[in-house]
Amino acid sequence: MTASAAAASTSSTSAEGDGLRHDWSRKEIEALFALSFNDLLFRAHSIHRQHFDPNQVQVSTLLSIKTGACPEDCKYCPQSNRYDTGLEAEKLMEVEKVLEQARAARAQGSTRFCMGAAWRSPKKKDMPYVTAMVRGVKELGLETCMTLGMLTEQQAQELADAGLDYYNHNLDTSPEYYGEIITTRTYGDRLTTLDNVRSAGIKVCSGGIVGMGESVRDRAGLLQQLANLPQHPESVPINMLVQVEGTPLAGTEQLDPIEFIRTIAVARILMPRSYVRLSAGRESMSEEMHALAYFAGANSIFYGEKLLTTPNPEANKDLTLFERLGINAERRCADSDEAVTAALSDSIEQARNDKLFYDASA
Ligand code: SF4
Repeated sequence: MTASAAAASTSSTSAEGDGLRHDWSRKEIEALFALSFNDLLFRAHSIHRQHFDPNQVQVSTLLSIKTGACPEDCKYCPQSNRYDTGLEAEKLMEVEKVLEQARAARAQGSTRFCMGAAWRSPKKKDMPYVTAMVRGVKELGLETCMTLGMLTEQQAQELADAGLDYYNHNLDTSPEYYGEIITTRTYGDRLTTLDNVRSAGIKVCSGGIVGMGESVRDRAGLLQQLANLPQHPESVPINMLVQVEGTPLAGTEQLDPIEFIRTIAVARILMPRSYVRLSAGRESMSEEMHALAYFAGANSIFYGEKLLTTPNPEANKDLTLFERLGINAERRCADSDEAVTAALSDSIEQARNDKLFYDASA
């Protein structure tokens, strides 16, 4: 059977209760990757149109609320304390500072505010601060997302009780290639966290990184794991490795941009109702590559000048490109600025009353 015939045959196979497939084989996914580029993009774009407005892209902002000094050994990450990247570690941000940033993100049109901490997992003493951040950001009318490392069932429940909408925890790569990238936590640990998050009723944001020297089979394996979860992640970030000097993956052979677009397209086909997000690595992507990614099914970006610790295209560059492409940023916050200011003050006051400002001297 030719690659295109094998890939075409997949559309008639079984669907689960949500009308989506969760039984993709590696072979089927590899066959999608092997389609001619035009056939793959046509198929992905057609599916994209069935489920989303093709001219709308969701905009999220990501803030690092605790930077660096992470004990994990993810070989791509400048925040690991095992690599000398010159990154300056910072303690957990104060709640009120986080809320100020959230307000600025909201004013720039973000509808979701993501907060990331470089932890193996949050400690008990951290939980009151991060839950206060969730409550405060929600009061601003923004959707909330956090990425804090591994979560226990109880921690996931605490975040859910605070109103957390999304939790990000990436699978990074295929199960086979995973050991080349991280040794301090297992693939199973990651799946357990995703399960804890889902069971607590929080929506799942999970994707991976490409360009880490993996094979196409590994990219297929990553997407297979995500698509075959009992429920597809609501958001699927596809990151292009940002090579940071001092990390073990600096100097890895660059991934062909066409292969990156293929990964976006296959993710769209496998998870038709998920937001597929262009995440890290956008800075090195041309405008034409962004346009192709949007056509292939990407419909979410991180916005702002910094993505955790690596650069992100300037915000107005994104808006100019949106205009040229006739794309609208998905905005949901219509309240007046006064209302935002009031909500912000209320959140700060509440945090102050609850004594939740982080004591930097502790
Ligand atoms: S990716 Fe996350 S867990 Fe891994 S080293 Fe970086 S901050 Fe730590």
